[in-house]
Amino acid sequence: MGEILPCDHTFSLDYYHTKKLITELGLSVVKIDACKNDCMLYWKDDIKFESCKFCGDPRYKLQKAQNYQVTKSAYTVLRLDDHPSDAEAWRHFDCTYPYFTMEPQNVRLGLCVDEFVPHRQYGKMNSCWPMILTLYNLPQKMFMKSEFIFLTLVIPGLSNPKHFIDVYMQSLIEELLQLWHMGVRTYDRSANEFFIMRAALM
Ligand SMILES: [Zn+2]
Repeated sequence: MGEILPCDHTFSLDYYHTKKLITELGLSVVKIDACKNDCMLYWKDDIKFESCKFCGDPRYKLQKAQNYQVTKSAYTVLRLDDHPSDAEAWRHFDCTYPYFTMEPQNVRLGLCVDEFVPHRQYGKMNSCWPMILTLYNLPQKMFMKSEFIFLTLVIPGLSNPKHFIDVYMQSLIEELLQLWHMGVRTYDRSANEFFIMRAALM
């Protein structure tokens, strides 16, 4: 393949690098069969079971194909590649805001907050609540990687800030509203030009 491509090509030439690239792009799908009553996964030591070890229900349903051959498929399959873009809410957003969706350089953000305990002092816990923005434009395997997440706020305090979280979020909300309504002038390095980038919090 390398012989017929230009000398500065970036095409992956071996199986290992191609597979690694596809995995990084989030294109690989891991499927695990599950009991239809949610009792167990057919996974690891239980991968060969034909029926649920708890409720006894069968793993597969049998279907007749057009050529009269009988095929079997699992009642319930867990997919480990679910990206927020698979969700109904994402499709609803696309229908409601087509002008936002038409521009692929617009970004979709996720917001999460969780408690973080950096160290303990004299038996007291010192905790804080980092608020993190994730970039849903990226495949699932990338958007939770540290290089692609943005620490936007650190709320101090021991208790869960849910009752006063909006107080701390005011500056972030203002920026998000600006990104949604007006966008910001952003430099596109690949095209060597500026564009207006808008953002939506999903
Ligand atoms: Zn079961």
